Amino acid sequence: YPTEKIRNFSVVAHIDHGKSTLSDRLLELTNTIKPGQNQQVLDKLEVERERGITVKANSSSMLYDYKGDKYLLNLIDTPGHVDFSYEVSRSLGACDGALLLVDATQGIQAQTLSVFELASQRNLKIIPVINKIDLPAAEPDAVIEQVLMQFDLDIDSALPISAKSGLNVEKVLHAIVDQIPPPPPSPTPPRQQPLKALLFDSYFDKFRGAVSLIKIESGSIQKGDVVVSHHSKSRYTVGEVGVLNPAEKPTTHLQHGQVGYLVCGMKESSEAHIGDTIYKQSQPVEPLPGFQPVKPMVFAGVFPVDNKDFLRLEENVKRLTLNDPSVTVNRESSNALGQGCRVGFLGQLHLDVFRQRLEDEHDSEVIITAPTVPYKVIQGGEERIVRVPSDFPEPHELSNKKASLFEPYVNAEVIVPDEYLGSVIELMSAHRGDQVAFNYLENSNPPRVHLKYHVPLAEIVTDFYAKLKSATSGYASFEYQQADYVASDLVKLNMLIHHRPVDALAMIVHRSKSMDVAKHWVSKLKDVIPKQQFEVAIQAAIGQKPIARETIKAMRMNVTEGLYGGHFDRKLKKLNQQKRGKAKLKTKAVGNIHLPQSAFYDLMKS
Ligand code: GDP
Ligand code: MG
Repeated sequence: YPTEKIRNFSVVAHIDHGKSTLSDRLLELTNTIKPGQNQQVLDKLEVERERGITVKANSSSMLYDYKGDKYLLNLIDTPGHVDFSYEVSRSLGACDGALLLVDATQGIQAQTLSVFELASQRNLKIIPVINKIDLPAAEPDAVIEQVLMQFDLDIDSALPISAKSGLNVEKVLHAIVDQIPPPPPSPTPPRQQPLKALLFDSYFDKFRGAVSLIKIESGSIQKGDVVVSHHSKSRYTVGEVGVLNPAEKPTTHLQHGQVGYLVCGMKESSEAHIGDTIYKQSQPVEPLPGFQPVKPMVFAGVFPVDNKDFLRLEENVKRLTLNDPSVTVNRESSNALGQGCRVGFLGQLHLDVFRQRLEDEHDSEVIITAPTVPYKVIQGGEERIVRVPSDFPEPHELSNKKASLFEPYVNAEVIVPDEYLGSVIELMSAHRGDQVAFNYLENSNPPRVHLKYHVPLAEIVTDFYAKLKSATSGYASFEYQQADYVASDLVKLNMLIHHRPVDALAMIVHRSKSMDVAKHWVSKLKDVIPKQQFEVAIQAAIGQKPIARETIKAMRMNVTEGLYGGHFDRKLKKLNQQKRGKAKLKTKAVGNIHLPQSAFYDLMKS
């Protein structure tokens, strides 16, 4: 395909505004898929369908006849969630234009703003598309005006459509060809130019390893070429290239301006670095701008309830993360929980999706510790990142050498009808958020407010999102981007059971929250720890100093007490019952009490 007949574009939208539905319609209208075949074809993972989100981006090429010419349209899908904003920006890096899709019953939402921001940073041609105009509650005119004013777009450019019924969707295809520019032309024939390809996504294939999605910025690539990853400097021999249609369709080569897949013997998806530049070994090039290595921001420990299960669990964790280059996995061991893995995720949703898949696919119980963010400790001129709370320095270690403590912050945006404004402001301040902006949205009925906050990441990787939704009857939309590290008065909270700290339960919290958190966890622990032969103290302490305590009373010393002599049968039965009960509990020694691992499981579940 000549470059001037290629259009590389993406659909960006707030969740549920109809991105997958519109993608299906576009694929149908171009006869790429048959009508009604496989709804939401681009949402490949099951969890995506369950949750109605796209975790992994998927893409497809389409052929389209328009005004007597044949066009190659490459739809590059982007992940639909805030945790993946780096991936979104890389996928947009392969595009020359984007459809900004807005639900005509909802108007602009928080994610609409952030995806617009990402698209306009890349100077993409943006076509506003107002969806769901078939619904009685739709207010297409008001929403069009809202979009044009908010984003300063051309007054005639908005397209009102129904992705569901197909109304006006053909016009979307016309607009893609008419308004989105083709990739810039190649200065000389592509085969004479050095190859420069942007790796913007990958998926995993059992037999061929990582399959990369690439956009050819210059030059061309074909089977047999020896290529190099700019980031890792690893060398690969190209085994196959082709286009997604949406199934893989091999081609002899891919060249300047095109988008397609590359199979080159990468064994693991962690070798396919999102944002990397691929070039030919014989023709080294400068890398494309904007590459960032994977930077997980939420960590959790994953432990088997039964220690014998560790290797199998580790294998399952690795298998689940094969397809996902943005997860990191390292071994971790705990005095309380034994051998496990520390897994790093891009954000809370990313972790939730992993948790759900692990629970579905691993047939025995797994303990997933409370999520933690990476804290920064600067001490004696040395800087380190703490990803496991038990590694955080104790108060005496901090006072010895002057230390500074930092926690990661995010820039958060909330859009909410103004009747809920009070609840949102209250919630954000309870989560240590600082308001940085406050604006009424234009043309919105009911009136809606756009709020910006600077807020600690640790505060929103909890149940924050659920709280926000319930405080606003579901009307608030929320979005955040990683921002910076901020100096913070942090303390490590140790949980002591019978005066011994349990490493897996250590937590890093802001001092102002330490008392509440301490009380909450000691009472949770009290509920799950079985009675012992003696009284057990459950304490939460900062360093040596307990700040909250619960006590578990001793079990009755003698189960046969109260059965008077002579009833040997009953006595024996009772004792045997007790023995059996004990054998059932898989226990781990903590101090001199036996704490069943199932107690941790219950604790983390509740
Ligand atoms: P995504 O999260 O942006 O991918 O949104 P989906 O394509 O999954 O759509 C979310 C919901 O809106 C689904 O239940 C769709 O059936 C529905 N939907 C999408 N487009 C339209 C439309 O034009 N009209 C109506 N009535 N519903 C739509
Ligand atoms: Mg979708």
